[in-house]
Amino acid sequence: MQTISIAIDGPSGAGKSTLARRIAARLGYLYVDTGAIYRTIGYHMFTKGVDPREEPAVLAQLPEIRLELTYGEDGLQHMLLGGQDVTKEIRLPEISMYASAVSAIPGVRAFLLEMQRELARTHHVVMDGRDIGTVVLPEATVKIFLTADPEVRARRRMLELEERGTPEPFESVLRDIQERDWNDTHRAAAPLRQAEDAVVLDTTGLTFAESEEALLKIVEEKTR
Ligand code: C5P
Repeated sequence: MQTISIAIDGPSGAGKSTLARRIAARLGYLYVDTGAIYRTIGYHMFTKGVDPREEPAVLAQLPEIRLELTYGEDGLQHMLLGGQDVTKEIRLPEISMYASAVSAIPGVRAFLLEMQRELARTHHVVMDGRDIGTVVLPEATVKIFLTADPEVRARRRMLELEERGTPEPFESVLRDIQERDWNDTHRAAAPLRQAEDAVVLDTTGLTFAESEEALLKIVEEKTR
């Protein structure tokens, strides 16, 4: 079947996952959160006590990893690692850095590439990440680069962490975001960058509802 794919890339905390999930629900497409896949690999290294920057040690673990992506009755994406649901655990703040470190390793990216492409071949998808429009789905129907100023992203992330019951001070959230921005844009393997044919949506001055409508409008114009 000819599938439709909406690729949403951008830096940490730009609101990609929340917006992508909403858009997917409204369009009736499958939402694929690729960050969660990298987080699951990071979480595996964390539990095994492997330094995520040690490329040979990380690569040696890959054959042991049994990764599955399932969708709960709630329609939400769940990550299974060795058959165990780790959807909550991968959101712990320390796992962000593990995910960022393992994602810089080309062998890890190659390991996950086919899994992501297969999902887009078999479903209409809204897929978010860092390299979806540039590497994973270069032929995506619609490509969006979602961004916002770092301070605004840090403030949003802070509220999210508060709601989740794991508050962090603004300064440390901002530092984390800046560090991940640097890592994600400076790595050699599939760095975060805007695809030439992506539409940029800067949500700095927009509310969530406004961002959602703006995003949907871009999608509708491109899929008409
Ligand atoms: O999106 P999220 O913050 O959950 O992603 C966690 C980390 O995984 C990011 O900091 C980024 O380094 C990495 N990532 C990636 N490529 C993707 C999605 C996420 O490198 N497509």
